[in-house]
Amino acid sequence: MGGYSYLNSAAISAEYFLGKGAKKVAILDVDYHHGNGTQDIFYEREDVLFVSLHADPATDYPFYWGHPDETGLNAGTGSNLNLPMPRGTDWLKYRNQLSKSLETIHQYSPDYLIVSYGADTFIDDPISFFEIKTADYSEMGAIINELGLPTLICMEGGYDLTSIGVNVKAFLNGFDNC
Ligand SMILES: [Zn+2]
Repeated sequence: MGGYSYLNSAAISAEYFLGKGAKKVAILDVDYHHGNGTQDIFYEREDVLFVSLHADPATDYPFYWGHPDETGLNAGTGSNLNLPMPRGTDWLKYRNQLSKSLETIHQYSPDYLIVSYGADTFIDDPISFFEIKTADYSEMGAIINELGLPTLICMEGGYDLTSIGVNVKAFLNGFDNC
């Protein structure tokens, strides 16, 4: 446990799919913070691709993980992709990195996609410093849906309690309506 969750819903779900016969699972983490626990769990595994878009660990939690040169180990070499972005990142810059991550997932050709969705990339989030707006989450959901993969969405962070509902709804509507 590194400060937030005791149980890793995305990792538990990935193991479940693999146990049910899936050969490969991809996890896309769009929470503001690097998914250090998920990376650690699957770092030496080739059957789970982990892709994380997050704030640069030079300025933000978890500080010691989430750098681009962390690409996996042993059998997992090449199955870990970190895309850190600076504070102040807006949707246009974010979307550019998201497209890169989706191309990597497409190439990996997983049986299932698990999305670790965090609403703490929101512009008014009190502990985060990206500038994503509510309407952007709809586009984010729609773009992820374009992968055409069976997808499980897990709720991760989000600390602006007045807007978290609309931001989750925007993401789900975007994912569902395209
Ligand atoms: Zn977070």
